[in-house]
Amino acid sequence: VAKINFEGRALDMVAGQTVLERLELEGLQVTSFCRSGVCQSCVLRTTSGNLPAIAQAGLKETWKRQGYFLSCVCKPDVDLDVSRCEEGAAHPTRIVEVSTLAPQVLRVVLERPPEFAFAAGQFIQLLRPTDGLMRPYSIASVPDSGTLELHVALLANGQMSGWLAGAQGQAAEVRGPFGECIYLPDELDRPLLLAGTGTGLAPLLGVLRTAMAAGHRGPIRLMHGAVHSTGLYYWQQLCRLQAQMPQLSLVGSVLQPDVEDVAESGPREIVQASILRAPLDEVVMSSQVAWAEQRVYLCGHPDLVRTLRKKVFLAGTPLQRIHADPFLPPKAAA
Ligand SMILES: Cc1cc2nc3c(=O)[nH]c(=O)nc-3n(C[C@H](O)[C@H](O)[C@H](O)COP(=O)(O)OP(=O)(O)OC[C@H]3O[C@@H](n4cnc5c(N)ncnc54)[C@H](O)[C@@H]3O)c2cc1C
Repeated sequence: VAKINFEGRALDMVAGQTVLERLELEGLQVTSFCRSGVCQSCVLRTTSGNLPAIAQAGLKETWKRQGYFLSCVCKPDVDLDVSRCEEGAAHPTRIVEVSTLAPQVLRVVLERPPEFAFAAGQFIQLLRPTDGLMRPYSIASVPDSGTLELHVALLANGQMSGWLAGAQGQAAEVRGPFGECIYLPDELDRPLLLAGTGTGLAPLLGVLRTAMAAGHRGPIRLMHGAVHSTGLYYWQQLCRLQAQMPQLSLVGSVLQPDVEDVAESGPREIVQASILRAPLDEVVMSSQVAWAEQRVYLCGHPDLVRTLRKKVFLAGTPLQRIHADPFLPPKAAA
């Protein structure tokens, strides 16, 4: 039986349990959120032993080399010395602006903490200092901005999103950054395909804005999906970005038949922009692109992200060029 050494305790692993579950069984507090290896809030560090590959999937290369791992999916075969990591230290910030992008979508602007560096498309963990409530949110702004822009879906009875709606001027904390949905500036000719549902647009926007600033030359397809046309909450702004970037093509996907509202209010001179009444995965997969050449970013609804990741891989895009951020809901400890 493998053992883990943690804060002076030697703990025998229990068959089938993860490191996170074993520590919780001992009554130890470890921050966790999605408990599925995605949100990276449960990262711990080991200075010994071989980790199963899944325990480091999606972590930055620099983190992997330092022994950071996802405790929620790590079931070790060998003994590990485990410690908490410093990388996730909280940076104090302030919510400088909260506005409405659509009836159920907030634009939340945070002061950028001075020591906080990130790559476009990454996400943060946002903490409410009064009670430690924490949720991950993707960053829609670019790294050289003095603020962090978030797009937050306002959920019925949402603890964090409900609080954020009235939180302008409040103090908060930012942990991170996390995730690898990032733009790579050394691939200016690479075709990019960005697809997301709802506020899954936020990290895609970060990637798109950074690609524009870097002078990206390859074609970029941005596909935004929503149930209703009002969920395409950034369509007008995207059309304006497209006017400055001829290699950008936009496709909207909506499931409800109120497409005309959006299409008719858009600037008519932008002929490439189109909104289709079809599910996003169908729209993405009907793209006439050389799949083997693409770099693909998929964000938003977890089922859709998972389905598309598989379809895009089967169509020929190598896994290392598929970046996926499923917006998983918080999962309570079992
Ligand atoms: C890597 C990552 C990045 C994310 N980025 C963003 C982002 O940029 N913008 C954004 O709006 N959200 C994002 N999310 C989701 C976000 O972290 C929260 O889940 C969401 O804001 C709900 O928090 P809440 O406290 O308002 O709702 P809660 O109080 O946690 O939940 C209220 C109700 O909504 C349900 N619910 C909670 N979360 C979700 C969800 N994600 N999908 C469906 N139902 C849910 C709950 O089951 C509950 O019934 C991201 C998630 C992950 C894992």
